[in-house]
Amino acid sequence: MHDFAFIGLGNMGSGMAKNLASAGSVIAFDLSEEALKAAEAVGMTRASSAGEAAAQAKTVVTMLPAGPHVKAVYMGENGIFDNAADGALLIDCSTIDVDTAREVAGVAQSRGFRFADAPVSGGVAAAAGGALTFMVGCQADDFDTVKPVLEPMAKAVIRAGDHGAGQAAKICNNMLLAIHMIGTAEAFALAEKLGLDAQQFFDISSVSSGQNWSMTSYCPAAGPVPTSPANKGYAPGFAANMMLKDLKLAAEAAAKAGASTPLGGQAESLYALFDGLGYGHKDFSGIMAMLAGRLEALDN
Ligand code: NAD
Repeated sequence: MHDFAFIGLGNMGSGMAKNLASAGSVIAFDLSEEALKAAEAVGMTRASSAGEAAAQAKTVVTMLPAGPHVKAVYMGENGIFDNAADGALLIDCSTIDVDTAREVAGVAQSRGFRFADAPVSGGVAAAAGGALTFMVGCQADDFDTVKPVLEPMAKAVIRAGDHGAGQAAKICNNMLLAIHMIGTAEAFALAEKLGLDAQQFFDISSVSSGQNWSMTSYCPAAGPVPTSPANKGYAPGFAANMMLKDLKLAAEAAAKAGASTPLGGQAESLYALFDGLGYGHKDFSGIMAMLAGRLEALDN
């Protein structure tokens, strides 16, 4: 029996699983052979299916693209629910819609598992560095068990409320992230047209009232933040089509709740355009190239 199963070894999950492995043995699964080889190379055991991984661990962590993947991996044939050990703790860190998170949690509970939705904020660098913020939706009694599992991957683990509350917090956070990324990209594109170079504008705005995370941690203009995707041809990172997914989730949640989110709607339209132009696989900060009128910078 392993301490942990980790399913979904993509941009985020690969780094997270590595950090989790510092706290115990990990059996890992992904559909990608390349991802499995990389996991093996750092000492994890590979499984041949999600069910096989889940059957051999006390705690299962998943990090998958979207709601349908989560449903398939938990509820599908040879999935987690049919194979996990009695009473196992199941934690889904993917960003998905609140309703699916609650549905999966409901089935988990009815089958005797403890479940938490625990989406993250922080990006690929924070995933690799064990510095993610986890927003947890779980029963109050379960939080003391969930928190220590997430801590090797975290700078903060915060309970947002009951099942689904982690996803609600994440959707609101990412709508705000999209809005300030687009605002930051617009400002850098304008600064350039007005004759300021990116570093000059960064030096001023990063210590002025325009300062925000998209600027100082993930600058969409090449130069000022050496680790940002802008310096690597906008390779993700956080893919624009993932951001579009999150904005759609925010719009759906807003419509259901009767909330007005006009800037979230604008951000969704801009990311839909960027995706429609064929750049959904690029980092979400690549929207800077569209706003600055140089999409060709992404064609390499
Ligand atoms: P990704 O596409 O890089 O990784 C997803 C992984 O899941 C892939 O390796 C894929 O092969 C695997 N997968 C898909 N279906 C599977 C299945 N049925 N069984 C096993 N593996 C399967 O995505 P990512 O960027 O790592 O994002 C994962 C989640 O984290 C998303 O919900 C995303 O919205 C969220 N997120 C991403 C970031 C970021 O910066 N990339 C930040 C915060 C949250």
